[in-house]
Amino acid sequence: MLDGKRILLIISGGIAAYKALDLLRRLKERGVRVRVVLTKGGAQFVTPLAVASLSGEKVYQDLFSLTDESEMGHIRLSREADLIVVAPASADLMAKMAAGLADDLATTALLATDKPVLLAPAMNVAMWENPATRANVALLEARGITRVGPATGDLACGETGPGRMAEPEDILGAIEAFLAGPQPLRGRRALVTSGPTREAIDPVRYLSNLSSSKQGHAIARALAQLGAETVLVTGPTRQTAAPHVQVRNVTTAEEMLAACEAERPIDVAVCAAAVSDWRPTTRPNQKLKKKKGATPVLELQETPDILARLSAAGPTRPSLVIGFAAETENLIENAREKRTRKGCDWILANDVSEGSNTLGGDSNRIHFLTKDGIEDWPEMSKDAVATTLAQRIVTHFEGDA
Ligand code: C5P
Repeated sequence: MLDGKRILLIISGGIAAYKALDLLRRLKERGVRVRVVLTKGGAQFVTPLAVASLSGEKVYQDLFSLTDESEMGHIRLSREADLIVVAPASADLMAKMAAGLADDLATTALLATDKPVLLAPAMNVAMWENPATRANVALLEARGITRVGPATGDLACGETGPGRMAEPEDILGAIEAFLAGPQPLRGRRALVTSGPTREAIDPVRYLSNLSSSKQGHAIARALAQLGAETVLVTGPTRQTAAPHVQVRNVTTAEEMLAACEAERPIDVAVCAAAVSDWRPTTRPNQKLKKKKGATPVLELQETPDILARLSAAGPTRPSLVIGFAAETENLIENAREKRTRKGCDWILANDVSEGSNTLGGDSNRIHFLTKDGIEDWPEMSKDAVATTLAQRIVTHFEGDA
């Protein structure tokens, strides 16, 4: 499956660099063409000669090397690969990436590349858990950079915890997952809304709902796997986004709308969020106080309907807009009416009445409505709903092409 693929492997400083040699050997066994950039730190742990012997290619080390630049400029080096793998990815290298620094060959290639990047971090547990590293990793992931590991266990420094570089086998698995399969949605931009929104009542209270965001996260993952450049605008959730999905975290419906608008132009929008329909008209700066005998009355106003906004005709309307209809009664009738009223192309209707276990559960039973009619999908996992929908989206665009 990896035969003939091209990987740029960046080995940065850390004792785990010796494991990068094993990864390199395994990649070569699978027919991958691997070019290696060895940082100054990396060269403290593995020798250029060992790397060159295993890769069968010259090792790139110096940004300002006249011979390297004339043979293979750093821009070309960063682009002539299907994937860039950084293993080990040190805290320092990730910090530089997050800041956009480019002071050596590795960081310059990472800044210049238009290819996906997979990081295999490795460091001391305290460094991994340091808020600076956490923030850097979160920022890189929000930009769509993928990560494998670190694993938890005994560290070379004698401490224990997360920080061990993922095993070469696991990194290989992540590479395979990444480079696998056809990418029929490559070149398409997908937007997925997901999760609940929270509408503040006061600084400590809010209106929200039971959405877990599982379905929306699964849809974003499925679209990204098929090659779509995928942005996931999500309300508060415990779900972690799949690799290659760009995440925009929001809290309120207003923020969700603004985040979606900022992503236009979009080819396909899937509104899976359980947006709070109302929000309190006012939001006091202080916590509402209990007063004896007086129960507060919340005055509510409607939140913006993101699905309807995205569906509205106009030059930047996505070519395909898809909504959900979560209903507790008259499912099909309500869903049909909703499709027309909101102006979207497809609706996935599901029953969320008590006992259906749809909200927060792992499976879903969908009635798929288009202008041409209704299909009843059998009960399936939310992951399967996501892949089925993603395939429908592929078919739609194939018809377009
Ligand atoms: O009107 P209702 O909430 O039932 O519509 C559900 C669909 O509309 C879902 O796709 C949901 O993501 C979307 N929606 C929205 N913005 C709202 C309300 C719902 O995008 N304010």
